[in-house]
Amino acid sequence: MASTVRTKVRPTIHEFDLIRALHQRHGRRTPSVIQGIGDDAAVITSRAGQWTVLTTDLLTEGIHFDLRTATMADIGFRAAAANLSDVAAMGATPQYLLVALAIPRTGSSRQVHQLYRGMMAACRPHHVQLIGGDTSASGGGWFVSLTLIGVVPPRKAIFRSGARIGDCLYVTGTIGDALAGLKLLIEPPTRSNRHPHTAALSARHRQFLIGRHLRPTARIAEGRWLSANRFATSAIDISDGLSGDLRHISEESHVGIELDLDALPLSPACRAYAASRKLDPVNLALTGGEDYELLFTVSPRQRTRLERSAVERGFSLARIGTIHPLRFGMQAVPPHGRRHRLANTSYEHFT
Ligand code: ADP
Ligand code: MG
Repeated sequence: MASTVRTKVRPTIHEFDLIRALHQRHGRRTPSVIQGIGDDAAVITSRAGQWTVLTTDLLTEGIHFDLRTATMADIGFRAAAANLSDVAAMGATPQYLLVALAIPRTGSSRQVHQLYRGMMAACRPHHVQLIGGDTSASGGGWFVSLTLIGVVPPRKAIFRSGARIGDCLYVTGTIGDALAGLKLLIEPPTRSNRHPHTAALSARHRQFLIGRHLRPTARIAEGRWLSANRFATSAIDISDGLSGDLRHISEESHVGIELDLDALPLSPACRAYAASRKLDPVNLALTGGEDYELLFTVSPRQRTRLERSAVERGFSLARIGTIHPLRFGMQAVPPHGRRHRLANTSYEHFT
């Protein structure tokens, strides 16, 4: 949208040059894109009968990211991964990306290019094409909004609402890592940080956890596999923290959930971090958002087939609970001790 009242982008960043450069670097397109960057809107063809999946995310400097702890490329990568993960959780295949950007007065075109380098690095393995966006100046910090478009065969989309009593609850990968990585980035420097070789936490574990925060992997292949084989009755990606995301399944499916805390998949790095900081790694797993793993439910009849197929595909899965009637509520079973109500401890922006 053009404005006659104020310049959209401060003069040192020339908007048209910037868009032309973005187009040249990232605007390559396949025949399914009739019109990409360069017109008033993008035009794509879609196969008849396919379902289209759309998702958008807004990232705000100071709320979702901090330039003191992440590079522009990291921010771009994570923003793309978050959207890819939403598409993965629907069991869909991501295809097209639109990016709306507000650039602060202190921002440079070099930073914009770094942002796109990160975004496209996350998108490239999935052949997602950049087909448009919008660019504005910002009176405050950076705003980065991504819109991702994907496709799924009819009736193969996986919703949060499909969990049934008796279903098994699973999660991919390991959880809690991204929160541990974030904590490492924001904790004040200590001796052990400056001298990683003498620290309780090895440099390798530290690097792994920070990588899990800054460069998360969206589980696209796993999501497609869950939908194509009709394994999952419901699914969600872990973006708010396990306890909060479980609550979404519970509310949308009208079911209760029993969570087996001993079964939570914790990485050796997450355990080592927790031990070094005298934290409970289970708490990291319950509260930490942004692991972008998939949380899903499977009918007990499918269990053997699912687990065998996961081994064949090299997918890492953990069975972490069971679906109960709604009146059961949400309960956690600790390794030793009594079952208790699962506290809602996930990350909330507005509290
Ligand atoms: P309009 O004023 O009609 O919105 P713009 O000048 O904003 O047109 O955009 C021109 C073209 O550049 C459009 O194809 C738009 O999708 C694309 N575009 C603008 N900003 C971006 C951006 N930040 N990233 C990718 N494409 C962009
Ligand atoms: Mg525009």
